[in-house]
Amino acid sequence: MPTASARVPDAAGRFGPYGGRYVPETLIPALEELDQGFRRAWRDPGFRREYRRLLADFVGRPTPLTFAARLSAETGRRIWLKREDLCHTGAHKINNALGQVLLAKRLGKQRIIAETGAGQHGVATATASALLGLRCRIYMGTEDMRRQAVNVYRMRLLGAEVVGVDSGTRTLKDAVNEALRDWVTHVTDTHYCLGTAYGPHPFPVMCREFQSVIGREARRQILAAEGRLPAALLACVGGGSNAIGLFHAFRHDPEVRFFGVEAGGRSLQPGEHAARFAGGKPGVFQGAATWILQDEHGQILGTHSVSAGLDYAAVGPEHAWLRDQGRAEYLHCSDAAALRAFHRLAECEGIIPALESSHALGVLDEVAARLPAEAAIIVNLSGRGDKDVAEVARLEGAMR
Ligand SMILES: *Cc1c(COP(=O)(O)O)cnc(C)c1O
Repeated sequence: MPTASARVPDAAGRFGPYGGRYVPETLIPALEELDQGFRRAWRDPGFRREYRRLLADFVGRPTPLTFAARLSAETGRRIWLKREDLCHTGAHKINNALGQVLLAKRLGKQRIIAETGAGQHGVATATASALLGLRCRIYMGTEDMRRQAVNVYRMRLLGAEVVGVDSGTRTLKDAVNEALRDWVTHVTDTHYCLGTAYGPHPFPVMCREFQSVIGREARRQILAAEGRLPAALLACVGGGSNAIGLFHAFRHDPEVRFFGVEAGGRSLQPGEHAARFAGGKPGVFQGAATWILQDEHGQILGTHSVSAGLDYAAVGPEHAWLRDQGRAEYLHCSDAAALRAFHRLAECEGIIPALESSHALGVLDEVAARLPAEAAIIVNLSGRGDKDVAEVARLEGAMR
């Protein structure tokens, strides 16, 4: 448990040695404006009311906390699923996208830009922009565009312009670079809607606040259902937004253990996974100091995961800090174990989870074994698996 009385993050967005603002000079005023604008909006009951109304009427919140009876019988623990898969657009990402686009409108911005990997954040941002009437441009690596053609079409249906990025590995990190480049040249009229609890301050804090509705609801729901707090929370960690969104409301409950799950990929060899804590070390990447997958020269390593949403070389800075503090533990789940968990939830509970969420489910037995019988565990079901069905069918067809 942290004992220091210092505020975390500090005014510069530092979580101990992590976080901060590692960006070109030209972006500092925009980040300052965003930080102040966000803090003012977040204190404004009018803004909060409007955001809450959209979460209720448009996103469909509160999402249920579903008791997983058959999974509970199998594990000997009481398993609860936080149903972010039931959010409009199919995942938790809309909570953050809607909050940021609403904020951008309040700050007088006319144009939204965003990066996307699998397309989930792009779809969420295009959706929020359509709803609130702002122009929207999404940067996406051309390799990802090929792999996620349906989401590209979905964004275009929603009125967004999708711009292919042909540099580097033509994937998420290249799309982030391009979005940052755009933002540098259009800061006055443009908001960069970053998709996870990552990047330069204030993005990690802002995204956490917009996602923390997950944990606030879950805490209230489990107290009502069980009359006690859960023994553990379990969530997958890409950049870290669905996990921090669940954890945050339980930060003052030391009896609740936090487990984050990274993508273990094909193996823990360099380039074969995205388990930053298992195979990385501290460094700086795309605006923040944190744990990063890099070679001995500090070059960013390639990554792999069966789930595009977890396939990123760096982890949100607050997670690095929570790990240092011993407040949260981070495990990893292989592609194969995630696929087994994908099928298990479908067959056991009638819910097809996103492949990202399947990574959290993939270590459920491992986490359950560390807890007493009948302990309550909340698993964050960050998204639904419809988007992954064709890919799983292809993978398993190929394996036969
Ligand atoms: C993007 C995504 C993730 C990973 O992102 P976080 O910021 O770590 O939450 C997890 N699950 C789903 C369904 C996603 O779309």
